[in-house]
Amino acid sequence: PAGRLNVIAGPMFSGKSEELMRRVRRAKIAGVNVLVLSHSLDTRSDLSAITSHDGINIPAIPVGDVESLAELARVEDYELVAIDEAQFFGPDLVPTVFDLVERGAAVIVEGLCVTFDGGPFEPMPTFMAVAEDVLKLTAVCTICGRDAVFHQRVGTPGLSVEASEPSATDIDASHVGGLESYVARCREHFAPPH
Ligand code: ADP
Repeated sequence: PAGRLNVIAGPMFSGKSEELMRRVRRAKIAGVNVLVLSHSLDTRSDLSAITSHDGINIPAIPVGDVESLAELARVEDYELVAIDEAQFFGPDLVPTVFDLVERGAAVIVEGLCVTFDGGPFEPMPTFMAVAEDVLKLTAVCTICGRDAVFHQRVGTPGLSVEASEPSATDIDASHVGGLESYVARCREHFAPPH
């Protein structure tokens, strides 16, 4: 059977989780055998669910690393494997996803393709390069309302922005997904950390 790689990418608040949930919901209605996985580092919500910024959620199995993800995905011949917040798994996710696709699964990889300093965020760019289908979403700029391809960190109360600025790839789990810490920005209003 021919597998397929589908990508949903964009900055924070672009509706990636909503789109993933919509596709999973439809697949379940169609009787497809679906496995939904999230990263256990995503503390935004209930661990056993994917939750959007609007609070909508669907059940998901939290996994801590690529090895556990691969193991779970091999338990059954899933027709569809949906992976939420793929950037948390890092570049090691690439060979595992390719393996699933080669064995005939449709895999949806959803995640951030841009870091909060505006650079490419692996592994999403790699997936985007070789996917059968890519949906690139934008958020709404919180300053002007135009399409936002970036998100940036804003100061956490009690901390100076300076002190709370981690490196681009070291996303602090306690700051994932919170409206209070990141904002969506268009090209004009994006001000990357220095
Ligand atoms: P993502 O998974 O890409 O972070 P979600 O699917 O969790 O996005 O949330 C998308 C929802 O967030 C939108 O439908 C909207 O209601 C809400 N939202 C809050 N702030 C913004 C913003 N600046 N731009 C777009 N949507 C926003």
